[in-house]
Amino acid sequence: MAKKNQNEPHCGFCGRSQSEVPLLLTGLGCNICSECVELAHGVVADNVKHNKKHKGGFNLDIEDLPRPREIKEFLDQYVIGQDEAKKYLSVAVYNHYKRILQPKDNNDVEIEKSNIILVGRTGTGKTLLAKSIAKKLHVPFTIVDATVLTEAGYVGEDIESILTRLLQACDYDVEAAERGIVFIDEIDKIARKGDNPSITRDVSGEGVQQGLLKLLEGSVVNVPPQGGRKHPDQKMIPVNTQNILFVCGGAFDGIERKIAQRLNTHVVGFGSVSQQNIIDRDNLLQYIAPQDLKSFGLIPEIIGRLPILTYLNPLDRDALLRILIEPKNSIIKQYIKLFAMDGVELTIEDDVKEFIVDKAIEYKLGARGLRSIAESIMMDAMYDVPSSNEKNIIITRAYAEEKLSRAHLNLHIGD
Ligand code: ADP
Repeated sequence: MAKKNQNEPHCGFCGRSQSEVPLLLTGLGCNICSECVELAHGVVADNVKHNKKHKGGFNLDIEDLPRPREIKEFLDQYVIGQDEAKKYLSVAVYNHYKRILQPKDNNDVEIEKSNIILVGRTGTGKTLLAKSIAKKLHVPFTIVDATVLTEAGYVGEDIESILTRLLQACDYDVEAAERGIVFIDEIDKIARKGDNPSITRDVSGEGVQQGLLKLLEGSVVNVPPQGGRKHPDQKMIPVNTQNILFVCGGAFDGIERKIAQRLNTHVVGFGSVSQQNIIDRDNLLQYIAPQDLKSFGLIPEIIGRLPILTYLNPLDRDALLRILIEPKNSIIKQYIKLFAMDGVELTIEDDVKEFIVDKAIEYKLGARGLRSIAESIMMDAMYDVPSSNEKNIIITRAYAEEKLSRAHLNLHIGD
């Protein structure tokens, strides 16, 4: 038998020498073999998993939680204005974390969840708020559209499909999903059509609201892991919605009329003159109250389960201009980056920005229109510049007007 060479380097963990192991890694004054590395990796991974499970898939401590102000400051980078909605959302998310962290096994006060409803015209930033907050979150998050939901048995998606999405967002980790956040967009589209309960079945309205209520209230729901009804044999996954935070958003077109009616009836009588004077008729949404949602067609049980009601402001010219320029990934910054990647310095003159905003207002396109107008202006430059030797491009108002008028012309010819 060959004698073991005492001078041969050996693994500091298992003691085997270099010739006895597949690979020996040499460190400062100590060595480790590849087999011990693998073993150690397994131990570390198990430990991390255990710690995560211990905290319910949520590895934050109360001291690490992002505070409401911090969450709002984060949102400020992406969303212009809408301070009220940002504040409400930040607090709701912070409280959601606290609820997740509350100890389960005492008879102490139990923090209940407070689902949120955001009301604001289309294109004012509801989805953007939800998406931006998702970037900051440490819990599973998904956005679903209420328009596709129907009562079980009808064409469309069952309510449970909302939770399928959430499960998919966290790789089917049920425990993590049970602490997640769901943004339900276009909640107003499931309002019933009249103020009175319907006598006939209302496929897309009241029935869906009843189904949704089950989720909002907190109950154990059997979720098809693949969603839909195409896989009837799939095994259901029970998910408890008690700790899932629901944020709903909707434009509630025409709700201003209901608000005005309510305000008018309230201001009759003593004190009416002074009250009427302070009502800002251009932005009635700021006075929204739960009873307006009821008049619009949400059932009282749903409204009761969405106790935090807030609104988004309509976007004025100033806000649109800020949206074009200021956010972290504003449209203008995106063009500058696109050109910089070709080594080209792009300058868009200030009056071009004003022009884009004016056109968005003129075409009644709101914030959504900013991008398409800017694209029409920038298209030729984006096409030509990468193949040219130009290193500096300046977009002037005259250039922008010409490009847009051509795009507009094309639009007309197309009609
Ligand atoms: P909503 O969900 O309210 O209908 P979105 O959030 O989808 O509207 O907004 C549409 C687009 O308009 C966004 O992608 C964003 O580019 C822009 N936008 C709207 N409101 C804002 C805002 N307050 N701040 C920054 N961008 C905004």
